[in-house]
Amino acid sequence: MEESFNIRKEDISLADRELDRQLRPASFSDFKGQQQVIDNLNVFVTAAKQRGETLDHVLLHGPPGLGKTTLAAIICNELGVNMRITSGPVLDKPGDLAGLLTNLEEGDVLFIDEIHRLSPVVEEYLYSAMEDFQIDIMIDKGPSARSVQLTLNKFTLIGATTRSGLLTSPLRARFGIKFHLEYYDQDVLTGIVRRSARILNVKIDDNAAVEIGRRSRGTPRIANNLLRRIRDFAQVKGSGKIDIDITRYGLKALNIDQHGLDEMDNRILTAIIDKFSGGPVGLNTIATAVGEESGTLEEVYEPFLIKEGFLKRTPRGREATEHAYRHLGKVFGSNSGGRLF
Ligand code: ADP
Repeated sequence: MEESFNIRKEDISLADRELDRQLRPASFSDFKGQQQVIDNLNVFVTAAKQRGETLDHVLLHGPPGLGKTTLAAIICNELGVNMRITSGPVLDKPGDLAGLLTNLEEGDVLFIDEIHRLSPVVEEYLYSAMEDFQIDIMIDKGPSARSVQLTLNKFTLIGATTRSGLLTSPLRARFGIKFHLEYYDQDVLTGIVRRSARILNVKIDDNAAVEIGRRSRGTPRIANNLLRRIRDFAQVKGSGKIDIDITRYGLKALNIDQHGLDEMDNRILTAIIDKFSGGPVGLNTIATAVGEESGTLEEVYEPFLIKEGFLKRTPRGREATEHAYRHLGKVFGSNSGGRLF
């Protein structure tokens, strides 16, 4: 089994985090891919600015590493406002949220990452803040405790989620602007790798950039991480320049899958082929077999496997394609799951 390289934000070291900041596009024109989302957002931001109004609340959903946080920061830059960042699991009590909300200036953005993980009480508290820009706060303690209504400065909430299926409908309904981010095509990822190499001041051959883009699971965060690691290999084991040989060497040393699939992708395909004769098999059954939530499989893993032609959705369930068999070195149609070699 290939080692996973699907690095999460919290796994990134301090040095890499600083590089991450440098590599983040700062304007709509720097942001590659997701063209329709960018074009529409640009219109909404420009219109709000022209009218001197606060931008409507924005919900960004899509798998990790596709640019939700980056887009939120770009929206702030373009609007010329401040951004406060928090995340669903961090906001424990309504009081935590009240503290953030009362500190917002007119037009500011509050970014809530993983908004599907807000606790129900905090979520409910957010409703009136989003809709009427008002909250109730408790003052005093004991017998003299009373609730006071406070009017907030108008703000824009930007929510990001990998699991839009877990959002409650009242919360979803309060976002006037909603966008889904898709996995990136290889040529866009190649462009991102080239841009990042320029910023990092490292020379890279075209075919090496293509190779890194191809192995990045459609995800800019993975593309940038791979580039940084290959840069290390080029510096220590090569000439400093990133060419195709050092790229292949580095990718092999990192156990990166030929198609950029991560460990869970491969477990899903292996389970369908070995345990369920290639399918069709129901989502819940696959989820049990690989020990992951079915919603995560459906919203985070499956879209990429379908996009890359490894998996098919049929009325009777999920099926592994011939491409998936070949990828895992198994004989297609044998239904035995036997290895080819
Ligand atoms: P998410 O919030 O969706 O998990 P991020 O916004 O944190 O993803 O993006 C991860 C990294 O990928 C960022 O450091 C950013 O540099 C890079 N990135 C994301 N989208 C793009 C893009 N369209 N163009 C260039 N770089 C991007």
